[in-house]
Amino acid sequence: MRFMKGGVLALTLLALFALLVAPNSSVSTALAQGNPTNSYVLRPSWVFDGFETHEGWFVVVEGDRITEVGPPEEVPVPRGSQDIELEGMTLLPGLIEGHSHILLHPYNETTWTDQVLNESLAQRTARAVVHVRDTLRAGITTMRDLGTEGAGYADVGIKEAIELGVIPGPRLLVTTKAIVATGSYNPKGAPEHFLPKGAEEADGYDDLVRVTRDQIGRGADWVKVYADYRWGPDGTAQPTFTEQELRTIVEVSESSGRRVAAHAVSAEAIRRAVVAGVKTIEHGDSGTPEIWRLMAERDVALCPTLAAGYSILTYSGWRPGVDPDPERIVAKKASFRAALEAGVPICFGGDVGVYSHGTNVVELELMVEYGMTALEALRAATSGNARILELDDQLGAVRPGLLADLIAVDGHPAEDITALRSIRLVMKGGKVYWWPHSGE
Ligand SMILES: [Zn+2]
Repeated sequence: MRFMKGGVLALTLLALFALLVAPNSSVSTALAQGNPTNSYVLRPSWVFDGFETHEGWFVVVEGDRITEVGPPEEVPVPRGSQDIELEGMTLLPGLIEGHSHILLHPYNETTWTDQVLNESLAQRTARAVVHVRDTLRAGITTMRDLGTEGAGYADVGIKEAIELGVIPGPRLLVTTKAIVATGSYNPKGAPEHFLPKGAEEADGYDDLVRVTRDQIGRGADWVKVYADYRWGPDGTAQPTFTEQELRTIVEVSESSGRRVAAHAVSAEAIRRAVVAGVKTIEHGDSGTPEIWRLMAERDVALCPTLAAGYSILTYSGWRPGVDPDPERIVAKKASFRAALEAGVPICFGGDVGVYSHGTNVVELELMVEYGMTALEALRAATSGNARILELDDQLGAVRPGLLADLIAVDGHPAEDITALRSIRLVMKGGKVYWWPHSGE
């Protein structure tokens, strides 16, 4: 059954009004009133199914699931379903961000140290509520958050509030405080002072077992460890934990069914983390050919966080495209390309929070600028991250049986990744959160 165009327009206006007067109420409330079966037929011009683009396919959503996908003549339309016309648009899986910090905001607004030391937990949590809303609005329907950076377990509470429908936001995988070696992490003041740290310190077998289990018990879906940090005598990144300590963290996490993500910039820290059994390497700037080969062999993914380094340099005055590339960018481009050529699985993970939440697409644009095709970047952000985060039985593709996390954008994102800036529809679990397009 098709709604009349006027009906669609009225619903859309109602939905927009609801958004304006009450930011917490979702568009889906208004849409659902005219759609008692909560089923939709999405009619885009193209469907990117997580792997390939198909022209003229329809997608049927019933409840929280995708039930039918294919050419119109092969797709049975459920009675009472609502049409969503998406002409000129590509429908694709909701994007999956692999490396975020919802409890941080851009460092050019407030330095990391000032956020950790001087912002209250209440202020930081309030900001996170806005951050996750902006993230969902940008088409990110699932996100792995890699540490609260001094904000305790606030990520667990934000995740719960999203799941309860109290606030809009993506599905979150959280890590709570993350684990660092004593003495390695910031903030640091005078040596006799004990400043609160941006992560939880732990060392040695007993302590690491206890802290890993404690973070898991308080809600960590993944365990995040800092395998190195900028604590070398000259300020360079040097390994923190021994290989045995990293093995302990992995062993304890894996026995609870959880995976480990390791911050690692230096080649030796990456090597230790990979042989210890972590699933993803965060940053990975100084990988060597041997390291990339090892990661590819063991199917360990790299979250390159290109947008973090890029943003930090712009904060100190670098003008991309105007000034020559700083040394750090030249090196990052080379190491990213080497990892890519070695066949390392590339995660879409930008370290958002260093830069504005909701601008996650910058990472994908840089992945393309630094050597990936738009199609490869789009796969990384959908089916690729679903596989890396072990969610591919539920998310990351447009396929019957999967959760209906779907977005629509203008044009062809598999050919031009900047198309992801034009989000026209956001659906999560079969609920429409954003659909300002009237279909006119
Ligand atoms: Zn990070």
